[in-house]
Amino acid sequence: MIITVKQNGDPQAVERELVARGLWVQKLEGGGRIHFLVESHSREVASDELVGIDGVDSVATKKSPHPRVDAQPRVIQVGGVQIGEAAKPVLMAGPCSVESPEQLAEIADPLAKLGVQFLRGGAFKPRSSPYSFQGHGAKALAWLRAAADRYRLKVVTEAMAAEHVDAVAEVADLIQIGSRNMHNYALLRSIATKGKPVLLKRGIAATTEEWLLAGEYCLLHGAAAVIFCERGIRSFDPAMRNLLDFGAVALLSTVYHQPVIVDPSHGAGRRDLIIPLSRTALAAGASGLLLEVHAHPGEALSDGPQALLPTELAQSISLLKGSGLGNA
Ligand code: PEP
Ligand code: MN
Repeated sequence: MIITVKQNGDPQAVERELVARGLWVQKLEGGGRIHFLVESHSREVASDELVGIDGVDSVATKKSPHPRVDAQPRVIQVGGVQIGEAAKPVLMAGPCSVESPEQLAEIADPLAKLGVQFLRGGAFKPRSSPYSFQGHGAKALAWLRAAADRYRLKVVTEAMAAEHVDAVAEVADLIQIGSRNMHNYALLRSIATKGKPVLLKRGIAATTEEWLLAGEYCLLHGAAAVIFCERGIRSFDPAMRNLLDFGAVALLSTVYHQPVIVDPSHGAGRRDLIIPLSRTALAAGASGLLLEVHAHPGEALSDGPQALLPTELAQSISLLKGSGLGNA
Protein backbone atom coordinates (compact mmCIF):
# COMPACT_ATOMS: atom_id res chain seq x y z
CA MET A 1 0.00 0.00 0.00
CA ILE A 2 1.21 3.54 -0.75
CA ILE A 3 -0.22 6.43 1.24
CA THR A 4 0.16 9.92 -0.19
CA VAL A 5 0.16 12.92 2.14
CA LYS A 6 -1.86 16.05 1.19
CA GLN A 7 0.10 19.00 -0.19
CA ASN A 8 -0.47 20.95 3.04
CA GLY A 9 -0.60 17.83 5.30
CA ASP A 10 1.85 17.14 8.14
CA PRO A 11 3.89 14.03 7.17
CA GLN A 12 5.10 13.45 10.73
CA ALA A 13 1.55 13.46 12.10
CA VAL A 14 0.48 11.04 9.34
CA GLU A 15 3.45 8.76 10.07
CA ARG A 16 2.57 8.71 13.78
CA GLU A 17 -1.01 7.70 12.97
CA LEU A 18 0.17 4.91 10.64
CA VAL A 19 2.68 3.54 13.15
CA ALA A 20 0.05 3.68 15.90
CA ARG A 21 -2.09 1.34 13.77
CA GLY A 22 0.68 -1.27 13.62
CA LEU A 23 1.98 -0.35 10.17
CA TRP A 24 5.68 -0.43 9.28
CA VAL A 25 6.27 2.38 6.86
CA GLN A 26 9.02 3.73 4.68
CA LYS A 27 8.97 7.43 3.75
CA LEU A 28 9.36 8.22 0.07
CA GLU A 29 9.43 11.50 -1.86
CA GLY A 30 8.22 11.80 -5.42
CA GLY A 31 6.37 14.28 -7.63
CA GLY A 32 6.80 16.99 -4.99
CA ARG A 33 4.79 14.93 -2.47
CA ILE A 34 5.51 12.75 0.54
CA HIS A 35 4.36 9.12 0.41
CA PHE A 36 4.55 6.24 2.86
CA LEU A 37 5.13 2.74 1.58
CA VAL A 38 3.51 0.20 3.92
CA GLU A 39 5.78 -2.83 4.34
CA SER A 40 4.13 -6.18 3.60
CA HIS A 41 4.80 -7.50 7.11
CA SER A 42 2.56 -4.82 8.66
CA ARG A 43 -0.71 -5.45 10.46
CA GLU A 44 -3.73 -5.73 8.18
CA VAL A 45 -5.58 -2.38 8.14
CA ALA A 46 -8.41 -1.52 5.73
CA SER A 47 -7.57 1.25 3.27
CA ASP A 48 -10.88 3.01 4.16
CA GLU A 49 -9.58 3.57 7.69
CA LEU A 50 -6.35 5.09 6.36
CA VAL A 51 -8.10 7.48 3.98
CA GLY A 52 -9.84 8.93 7.05
CA ILE A 53 -6.55 10.00 8.71
CA ASP A 54 -6.08 13.77 8.85
CA GLY A 55 -3.55 14.81 6.20
CA VAL A 56 -3.91 11.70 3.99
CA ASP A 57 -4.73 12.43 0.39
CA SER A 58 -4.99 8.94 -1.12
CA VAL A 59 -4.24 5.26 -0.54
CA ALA A 60 -3.11 3.05 -3.41
CA THR A 61 -2.99 -0.69 -2.91
CA LYS A 62 0.00 -2.63 -4.17
CA LYS A 63 -0.52 -6.21 -5.31
CA SER A 64 0.84 -8.89 -2.99
CA PRO A 65 3.67 -10.96 -4.55
CA HIS A 66 2.17 -14.12 -3.02
CA PRO A 67 -1.61 -13.95 -3.57
CA ARG A 68 -2.11 -17.73 -3.40
CA VAL A 69 -0.39 -17.94 -0.03
CA ASP A 70 -2.47 -15.02 1.22
CA ALA A 71 -5.64 -16.79 0.08
CA GLN A 72 -4.92 -20.07 1.91
CA PRO A 73 -7.73 -21.05 4.27
CA ARG A 74 -6.95 -20.47 7.95
CA VAL A 75 -7.32 -24.16 8.63
CA ILE A 76 -5.83 -26.74 6.25
CA GLN A 77 -6.86 -30.38 6.09
CA VAL A 78 -4.18 -33.03 5.63
CA GLY A 79 -5.63 -36.52 5.44
CA GLY A 80 -8.46 -35.50 7.77
CA VAL A 81 -6.17 -33.73 10.29
CA GLN A 82 -6.84 -30.01 10.68
CA ILE A 83 -3.82 -27.71 10.82
CA GLY A 84 -4.00 -23.96 11.38
CA GLU A 85 -4.68 -21.13 13.75
CA ALA A 86 -8.16 -22.23 14.72
CA ALA A 87 -7.26 -25.92 15.09
CA LYS A 88 -5.73 -27.92 17.93
CA PRO A 89 -1.90 -27.97 17.59
CA VAL A 90 -0.67 -30.93 15.62
CA LEU A 91 2.20 -33.25 16.54
CA MET A 92 4.55 -34.76 13.93
CA ALA A 93 7.20 -37.03 15.39
CA GLY A 94 9.56 -39.86 14.60
CA PRO A 95 13.18 -40.58 13.83
CA CYS A 96 15.41 -38.39 11.71
CA SER A 97 16.09 -41.30 9.33
CA VAL A 98 14.09 -44.41 8.66
CA GLU A 99 16.60 -47.11 9.67
CA SER A 100 14.69 -50.42 9.62
CA PRO A 101 11.16 -51.85 9.89
CA GLU A 102 12.03 -52.91 13.49
CA GLN A 103 13.01 -49.36 14.43
CA LEU A 104 9.65 -48.07 13.21
CA ALA A 105 7.70 -50.88 14.86
CA GLU A 106 9.27 -49.96 18.18
CA ILE A 107 8.63 -46.22 17.89
CA ALA A 108 5.24 -45.98 16.14
CA ASP A 109 3.29 -47.64 18.96
CA PRO A 110 4.31 -45.20 21.75
CA LEU A 111 3.94 -42.26 19.37
CA ALA A 112 0.38 -43.22 18.46
CA LYS A 113 -0.49 -43.68 22.14
CA LEU A 114 0.81 -40.18 22.90
CA GLY A 115 -1.56 -38.68 20.33
CA VAL A 116 1.00 -37.99 17.59
CA GLN A 117 -0.87 -37.55 14.29
CA PHE A 118 2.03 -37.72 11.78
CA LEU A 119 4.90 -40.20 11.71
CA ARG A 120 8.04 -38.55 10.36
CA GLY A 121 11.23 -40.16 9.05
CA GLY A 122 13.55 -39.57 6.13
CA ALA A 123 14.08 -42.15 3.42
CA PHE A 124 16.26 -39.75 1.41
CA LYS A 125 18.55 -37.77 3.70
CA PRO A 126 20.20 -34.46 2.82
CA ARG A 127 23.51 -34.89 4.73
CA SER A 128 26.27 -32.33 4.89
CA SER A 129 28.90 -35.04 4.38
CA PRO A 130 28.71 -37.44 1.43
CA TYR A 131 30.18 -40.11 3.76
CA SER A 132 27.28 -39.90 6.25
CA PHE A 133 24.28 -42.23 6.05
CA GLN A 134 22.22 -41.12 3.04
CA GLY A 135 18.97 -42.96 3.83
CA HIS A 136 17.60 -46.33 2.73
CA GLY A 137 15.67 -44.78 -0.16
CA ALA A 138 12.54 -46.34 -1.71
CA LYS A 139 12.41 -49.37 0.59
CA ALA A 140 12.32 -47.06 3.62
CA LEU A 141 9.23 -45.36 2.18
CA ALA A 142 7.40 -48.69 2.20
CA TRP A 143 8.48 -49.40 5.82
CA LEU A 144 7.29 -45.95 6.86
CA ARG A 145 3.87 -46.33 5.24
CA ALA A 146 3.36 -49.78 6.71
CA ALA A 147 4.24 -48.64 10.25
CA ALA A 148 2.02 -45.57 9.95
CA ASP A 149 -0.94 -47.58 8.65
CA ARG A 150 -0.63 -50.10 11.45
CA TYR A 151 -1.13 -47.30 14.02
CA ARG A 152 -3.42 -45.09 11.89
CA LEU A 153 -0.83 -42.34 11.61
CA LYS A 154 -0.26 -39.98 8.67
CA VAL A 155 3.15 -39.89 6.96
CA VAL A 156 5.39 -36.85 6.48
CA THR A 157 8.65 -37.50 4.63
CA GLU A 158 11.08 -35.58 2.47
CA ALA A 159 11.43 -35.58 -1.31
CA MET A 160 15.00 -34.54 -1.94
CA ALA A 161 15.31 -34.86 -5.71
CA ALA A 162 13.01 -34.81 -8.73
CA GLU A 163 13.62 -38.49 -9.47
CA HIS A 164 12.17 -39.49 -6.08
CA VAL A 165 9.09 -37.32 -6.18
CA ASP A 166 6.74 -39.99 -7.62
CA ALA A 167 7.76 -42.57 -5.02
CA VAL A 168 7.48 -40.10 -2.14
CA ALA A 169 4.11 -38.76 -3.33
CA GLU A 170 2.82 -42.32 -3.46
CA VAL A 171 3.29 -42.86 0.29
CA ALA A 172 3.31 -39.41 1.91
CA ASP A 173 0.25 -37.60 3.20
CA LEU A 174 2.43 -34.52 3.51
CA ILE A 175 5.58 -34.03 1.42
CA GLN A 176 8.47 -32.40 3.24
CA ILE A 177 10.67 -29.96 1.35
CA GLY A 178 13.97 -29.72 3.20
CA SER A 179 15.68 -26.54 4.25
CA ARG A 180 18.46 -27.03 1.72
CA ASN A 181 15.90 -27.22 -1.09
CA MET A 182 13.63 -24.28 -0.28
CA HIS A 183 15.33 -22.32 -3.07
CA ASN A 184 15.32 -25.24 -5.54
CA TYR A 185 12.48 -23.93 -7.65
CA ALA A 186 12.58 -26.79 -10.17
CA LEU A 187 12.12 -29.26 -7.30
CA LEU A 188 9.34 -27.15 -5.75
CA ARG A 189 7.58 -27.33 -9.12
CA SER A 190 7.93 -31.07 -9.53
CA ILE A 191 6.74 -31.74 -5.97
CA ALA A 192 3.83 -29.31 -6.35
CA THR A 193 2.54 -30.97 -9.52
CA LYS A 194 1.65 -34.02 -7.43
CA GLY A 195 -1.20 -31.98 -5.91
CA LYS A 196 -0.41 -32.98 -2.34
CA PRO A 197 0.03 -30.69 0.68
CA VAL A 198 3.65 -29.76 1.41
CA LEU A 199 5.62 -29.00 4.54
CA LEU A 200 7.99 -26.25 3.42
CA LYS A 201 11.01 -25.88 5.64
CA ARG A 202 12.62 -22.46 5.78
CA GLY A 203 15.98 -22.19 4.04
CA ILE A 204 18.89 -21.74 6.43
CA ALA A 205 19.41 -18.16 5.26
CA ALA A 206 16.04 -17.37 3.72
CA THR A 207 14.15 -14.18 4.48
CA THR A 208 10.50 -14.57 5.44
CA GLU A 209 9.55 -13.03 2.08
CA GLU A 210 11.64 -15.63 0.17
CA TRP A 211 9.98 -18.35 2.27
CA LEU A 212 6.49 -17.04 1.44
CA LEU A 213 7.45 -16.81 -2.24
CA ALA A 214 8.67 -20.42 -2.21
CA GLY A 215 5.21 -21.26 -0.82
CA GLU A 216 3.68 -19.32 -3.72
CA TYR A 217 5.70 -21.48 -6.19
CA CYS A 218 4.22 -24.60 -4.60
CA LEU A 219 0.64 -23.34 -4.73
CA LEU A 220 1.01 -21.94 -8.25
CA HIS A 221 2.21 -25.33 -9.51
CA GLY A 222 -0.55 -27.34 -7.88
CA ALA A 223 0.27 -28.15 -4.24
CA ALA A 224 -2.96 -28.70 -2.31
CA ALA A 225 -1.69 -26.53 0.57
CA VAL A 226 1.53 -25.21 2.09
CA ILE A 227 2.43 -25.59 5.74
CA PHE A 228 5.48 -23.54 6.69
CA CYS A 229 8.09 -25.11 8.98
CA GLU A 230 10.52 -22.94 10.99
CA ARG A 231 13.60 -25.07 11.73
CA GLY A 232 16.11 -22.37 12.58
CA ILE A 233 18.39 -20.17 10.56
CA ARG A 234 22.17 -19.95 10.56
CA SER A 235 23.65 -17.75 13.24
CA PHE A 236 27.07 -16.85 14.63
CA ASP A 237 26.51 -18.84 17.82
CA PRO A 238 27.79 -22.42 17.90
CA ALA A 239 25.95 -23.15 21.19
CA MET A 240 23.00 -24.34 19.14
CA ARG A 241 22.75 -25.99 15.75
CA ASN A 242 20.63 -23.12 14.40
CA LEU A 243 18.75 -20.08 15.67
CA LEU A 244 15.02 -20.70 15.93
CA ASP A 245 13.32 -17.55 14.70
CA PHE A 246 10.21 -17.16 16.83
CA GLY A 247 9.68 -13.66 15.41
CA ALA A 248 9.13 -15.27 12.01
CA VAL A 249 6.68 -17.75 13.57
CA ALA A 250 4.67 -14.86 15.05
CA LEU A 251 4.87 -12.92 11.78
CA LEU A 252 3.65 -15.76 9.58
CA SER A 253 0.92 -16.85 11.96
CA THR A 254 -0.32 -13.47 13.20
CA VAL A 255 0.13 -11.21 10.19
CA TYR A 256 -0.15 -13.66 7.29
CA HIS A 257 -2.45 -16.19 9.01
CA GLN A 258 -0.39 -19.11 7.72
CA PRO A 259 -0.08 -22.52 9.35
CA VAL A 260 3.43 -22.71 10.87
CA ILE A 261 5.00 -25.78 12.40
CA VAL A 262 8.13 -25.41 14.53
CA ASP A 263 10.95 -27.97 14.47
CA PRO A 264 12.97 -27.40 17.67
CA SER A 265 14.98 -30.58 17.04
CA HIS A 266 16.92 -29.11 14.11
CA GLY A 267 16.68 -25.65 15.67
CA ALA A 268 18.56 -26.54 18.85
CA GLY A 269 20.35 -29.73 17.81
CA ARG A 270 20.21 -30.88 21.45
CA ARG A 271 17.47 -32.67 23.31
CA ASP A 272 17.70 -30.74 26.59
CA LEU A 273 16.21 -27.64 24.97
CA ILE A 274 13.27 -29.25 23.19
CA ILE A 275 10.74 -28.71 25.98
CA PRO A 276 11.27 -24.96 26.54
CA LEU A 277 11.52 -24.34 22.80
CA SER A 278 8.31 -26.27 22.16
CA ARG A 279 6.52 -24.16 24.74
CA THR A 280 7.81 -20.98 23.17
CA ALA A 281 6.80 -22.16 19.70
CA LEU A 282 3.18 -22.66 20.72
CA ALA A 283 3.14 -19.33 22.58
CA ALA A 284 4.46 -17.60 19.43
CA GLY A 285 1.55 -18.93 17.37
CA ALA A 286 2.79 -22.25 15.96
CA SER A 287 0.08 -24.62 14.74
CA GLY A 288 2.13 -27.63 15.77
CA LEU A 289 5.53 -29.21 16.32
CA LEU A 290 7.84 -31.48 14.34
CA LEU A 291 9.98 -33.48 16.79
CA GLU A 292 12.67 -36.09 16.31
CA VAL A 293 12.08 -39.09 18.56
CA HIS A 294 14.14 -42.30 18.68
CA ALA A 295 13.91 -45.36 20.91
CA HIS A 296 17.75 -45.60 21.08
CA PRO A 297 19.16 -42.14 20.32
CA GLY A 298 22.72 -43.32 21.03
CA GLU A 299 22.47 -45.74 18.10
CA ALA A 300 20.68 -43.40 15.67
CA LEU A 301 22.18 -43.25 12.18
CA SER A 302 21.56 -39.49 12.09
CA ASP A 303 20.75 -36.68 14.54
CA GLY A 304 20.86 -38.82 17.71
CA PRO A 305 21.88 -35.93 20.02
CA GLN A 306 18.66 -34.05 19.30
CA ALA A 307 16.28 -37.02 19.46
CA LEU A 308 13.92 -37.38 22.41
CA LEU A 309 13.14 -40.75 23.92
CA PRO A 310 9.43 -41.63 23.79
CA THR A 311 9.32 -41.11 27.58
CA GLU A 312 10.77 -37.62 27.13
CA LEU A 313 8.14 -36.89 24.49
CA ALA A 314 5.48 -37.97 26.99
CA GLN A 315 6.97 -35.59 29.54
CA SER A 316 7.02 -32.71 27.01
CA ILE A 317 3.38 -33.32 26.17
CA SER A 318 2.34 -33.37 29.80
CA LEU A 319 4.25 -30.13 30.46
CA LEU A 320 2.33 -28.60 27.59
CA LYS A 321 -0.98 -29.63 29.10
CA GLY A 322 -3.77 -27.28 28.17
CA SER A 323 -2.25 -26.54 24.76
CA GLY A 324 -4.27 -29.35 23.16
CA LEU A 325 -1.03 -30.97 21.95
CA GLY A 326 -1.12 -34.76 21.60
CA ASN A 327 -2.97 -36.48 24.40
CA ALA A 328 -2.30 -33.63 26.84
C1 PEP B 1 14.96 -33.44 8.71
O1 PEP B 1 13.79 -33.09 8.96
O2 PEP B 1 15.45 -34.51 9.09
C2 PEP B 1 15.86 -32.50 7.96
C3 PEP B 1 16.87 -32.93 7.24
O3 PEP B 1 15.53 -31.23 8.15
P1 PEP B 1 16.12 -29.83 7.55
O4 PEP B 1 15.79 -29.84 6.08
O5 PEP B 1 15.35 -28.81 8.33
O6 PEP B 1 17.59 -29.81 7.84
MN1 MN C 1 17.22 -34.79 11.28
